Amino acid sequence: MIKKVFWKDPYLTQLETYIAGFKGDEITVEQTIFFAFSGGQESDDGTIGNSRVLQARTEGKEIIYTLEQGHGLKRGDPVSIQIDRERRYQLMRLHFAAEIVLELTCRHLKSVRKIGAHIAQDKARIDFEWGGNISNVLAVIQKEALWIIEANQEIISAFSNEETEERYWEIAGFARVPCGGTHLKRTGEVGEIELKRKNPGKGKERIEIFLISPPPLDLILTHKWGGWTQGAKFYVVNKSKSLLFFKFVIPAEAGIQVFPVGPGFPFSRE
Ligand SMILES: [Zn+2]
Repeated sequence: MIKKVFWKDPYLTQLETYIAGFKGDEITVEQTIFFAFSGGQESDDGTIGNSRVLQARTEGKEIIYTLEQGHGLKRGDPVSIQIDRERRYQLMRLHFAAEIVLELTCRHLKSVRKIGAHIAQDKARIDFEWGGNISNVLAVIQKEALWIIEANQEIISAFSNEETEERYWEIAGFARVPCGGTHLKRTGEVGEIELKRKNPGKGKERIEIFLISPPPLDLILTHKWGGWTQGAKFYVVNKSKSLLFFKFVIPAEAGIQVFPVGPGFPFSRE
């Protein structure tokens, strides 16, 4: 059975593994970091071997990847899996923003029922069955969500039942929720969010969630983001209430890359 490394290390963006089986354009692998659409979170983008993954889908506990025609891979072949790092991180940030917003919405509107959710790279949405207008509580939900994000609380992700692959996330003193998605390590990584209300139909309310600031990079660094911080230099440029802001310089082969830091923060001299 496929080993889902994206649970143990959701920040890993490259993995060496072997082809476990194939049938035409479809393959399975022994281990994977490539998330397949589930729980509303979209699949990753990336490659297995030298082939683009056109589709990733779950089948029971297995994940089936559809590759481009003529991939030439067979059982036992060593392959490298690479996923789009930016996309995965956006999905993880929006996913967790949605987790917080959903939890808060259920607290403010006791009898509300979630009827759908979708996490894409540019925004997340949650749909509710609700006769009223959700705008009444949107501002307070946004404010409370930002408190939780600013508090930079630890997010624990673990199995509730390893045999059946049931997982949960938990923030001590806030909530414990079943979910098999890829979760951040700390709430601060979500960054600033903005909520918008939509009315997709009678008796239905939608909350759209947008990320409006880049992630605080010091938090990414603490999780050894797929090894890409190797050889990087960090400069502390500011310390706010709960977040350390770093200047982030990576000597890449193509030259020096400088990544932006927290919202609106000016770079200091090296
Ligand atoms: Zn989740």
